[in-house]
Amino acid sequence: MAYQVTLIPGDGIGPEVSGAARRVLEATGVQFEWDVQEAGVTALESKGDVLPDDVVESIRKNGIALKGPLTTPIGGGFRSVNVALRHALELYANLRPARTYEGVQSTFDSIDLVVVRENMEDLYAGVEFEQGTDGAHEVIDAINRISGKNVSPTAAISIKSITPENSRRIVEFAFDYASRNERKLVTAVHKANIMKFSDGLFLKVAEDVSKEYPSIEFNDRIVDNMCMQLMQKPDLYDLLVMPNLYGDILSDLTAGMIGGLGVAPSANIGENAAVFEAIHGSAPSHAGRNEANPTAMILSGVMLLRHLNEQDAAKAVDNAVASVIKAGEHVTYDLRADRSREKGAGTSDMADAIIAELNR
Ligand code: NAD
Repeated sequence: MAYQVTLIPGDGIGPEVSGAARRVLEATGVQFEWDVQEAGVTALESKGDVLPDDVVESIRKNGIALKGPLTTPIGGGFRSVNVALRHALELYANLRPARTYEGVQSTFDSIDLVVVRENMEDLYAGVEFEQGTDGAHEVIDAINRISGKNVSPTAAISIKSITPENSRRIVEFAFDYASRNERKLVTAVHKANIMKFSDGLFLKVAEDVSKEYPSIEFNDRIVDNMCMQLMQKPDLYDLLVMPNLYGDILSDLTAGMIGGLGVAPSANIGENAAVFEAIHGSAPSHAGRNEANPTAMILSGVMLLRHLNEQDAAKAVDNAVASVIKAGEHVTYDLRADRSREKGAGTSDMADAIIAELNR
């Protein structure tokens, strides 16, 4: 029976890279019935809304989506469509594996890390007060009155909130993922030495949860030290779990370590739905040129296959991607040492080469 999957082609390079991923997934022999939905600028133009209800409903119904990158229009008061989608579906866990593929131009080799980022709270909950507004003044007055501190009345305010419930949920997700994927060590990343209450709570919950998983090693690192250690001795780490902001930053760091955005996949996972997408955005300057790297989107498709428990198909696509990148012949220009656009393969040509490898 075919899997019903919502497919959001996306904006900019989205239709090209998600089209490539769709063809590769179909070439595995796993049957899909795609429910194609528009979101982002494409939907704004056709339906007057960056995130039409139909899109959220479709993912709710199917429980799974492959999503191309979406452009957040600048100005007009638009919040990120991607953040809105994660909140609408309560996709609380952002899973970002970072593994080096031989042949990719990167400073590091043999990287095999997983970043698990909390997706729902922290400074990203959108509780902000614009500098100079009545709201900001009221909040600052209350803070100064209650805390005895002296926050300047000219300050802009962003609220960081960390709850035990969301901390527990993300740390349990990290340990469950570690158990299922034979990961040996979970590291909680925080800044609890400075933010004793918010990050301190996250760390305390992480320590508590770790006791429920005695077969997996646990430690913690302060976020700045974590960045340095990743540069110096990444081999000492395995799976990193952290609140939203640090996760956003560290997962770009790990993406950089494996060769950049073109090869970095991700998944946003909740209780009832999962959305698979590349980390990169819609890269408008590459749109319509058949030159964007489809790897990140195809590897997001590998994660989708694993989520469906189609392990053989997932492994086959992963191996095919690895072979094509290693051979270096049919890869997009950004994967070439000379970065030659003339010699680089097109997006669709790279997908064809991966499909040919799958069929070998
Ligand atoms: P971006 O990731 O779109 O592009 C940054 C640069 O990375 C590009 O100029 C390009 O050189 C390179 N790049 C990215 N993906 C590539 C690929 N597949 N192949 C080759 N090169 C690639 O980031 P941006 O320019 O900051 O954002 C553009 C738009 O995308 C914005 O509207 C932003 O809001 C949106 N965005 C969406 C998502 C998402 O949908 N999850 C994520 C990030 C940004």
